[in-house]
Amino acid sequence: MQELVNPKKVNLLDFDRKGLAAFFVGLGEKPFRATQLMKWIYQEDVYNFDEMSNLSKSLRAYLNENCEIATPEIVVEQIATDGTIKWAMQTHCGNRIESVFIPEDDRNTLCISSQIGCALACSFCSTAQQGFNRNLTTSEIVGQLFVAQNRVGKDHRITNVVMMGMGEPLLNFDNVVASVNLMMDDFAYGLSKRRVTISSSGVVPAIERLGDACDVSLAISLHAVRDELRDELVPINKKYPLNELMAACRENAKIAPRRFITFEYVMLDGINDTVADAKGLIKLLKTIPCKLNLIPFNPFPNSPYRCSNKETILKFKTMLNDAGIITTVRKTRGDDIDAACGQLVGQVADKSRRHLKLQNAT
Ligand code: SAH
Repeated sequence: MQELVNPKKVNLLDFDRKGLAAFFVGLGEKPFRATQLMKWIYQEDVYNFDEMSNLSKSLRAYLNENCEIATPEIVVEQIATDGTIKWAMQTHCGNRIESVFIPEDDRNTLCISSQIGCALACSFCSTAQQGFNRNLTTSEIVGQLFVAQNRVGKDHRITNVVMMGMGEPLLNFDNVVASVNLMMDDFAYGLSKRRVTISSSGVVPAIERLGDACDVSLAISLHAVRDELRDELVPINKKYPLNELMAACRENAKIAPRRFITFEYVMLDGINDTVADAKGLIKLLKTIPCKLNLIPFNPFPNSPYRCSNKETILKFKTMLNDAGIITTVRKTRGDDIDAACGQLVGQVADKSRRHLKLQNAT
């Protein structure tokens, strides 16, 4: 599909079902037009309003005149030896978004971005080094799934989406919520709630709001069990320290009692990988229904850290599992195309807005 660039036109991929119903009501139409339109777009792959036969002629004419269905466009595709694909997609204003397709035996996962760059300054993340540019719109977020699914074809149905690419999803709350609503909506992608995950560094007020706004799975980038160290690795911890973060997670877990919160923990040699750290993790996580995902650190140019060695990671994992916390080690995928965790960098030059954006958003 061609990207249309017309700022005067309303992009219908910017609405979830509720938003679309309100849009049609605003036009004097019935709200069920929303599901009719969604079926055409997301299930029938029909993007031409003239072919949407159950819409009235006058509505079709209105949509042709005033609306569009526009997605970002793939400009670079890299395929790794393990089948992982990284795409750079271009938005209509020339920004680049990065997404990664990760095929596995029992699932196909798409890792998507929520912002261009990132306003948080996590010291071990290469996206952070790029600074922050802007929030992605709903159509740019859901558009990554749209474009990726069309590109890999129906034989490779994307079953899981993780918002673990560039950006902090909970600092782009409304657009992220609308996007995941579309992904989980039976009239759109119909993905299972357990298979759509938002990963956050711990924006506590947004975590508190998330449960009411949508029923999506949550992953938290923990990375340290002491405030002093977490302040350094994940600086938003200075604003929302561990006790507040864990309290918000506990509340979120109550909303979806059959689901787990996933905690992510990057393994940094000599920094957060000691026996004392493992014991601290056990203490912190024991009272919360969760899984722990240990992420081997992926180095990038000028990064000040090294990945913990294999034995240390295994020992850590065994200690946690023995204490009853389900713990896995994330497989590194797409290493040869820089598609692994924390390696999505995009092209952001303007670091000056980082501070400003953080203040506004939280
Ligand atoms: N802002 C969100 C999503 C970011 S990336 C968040 O903080 O959760 C998804 C995961 O990759 C996070 O857990 C992040 O901390 C981790 N990550 C970032 N850089 C990494 C690196 N160089 N090596 C391994 N994991 C990294």
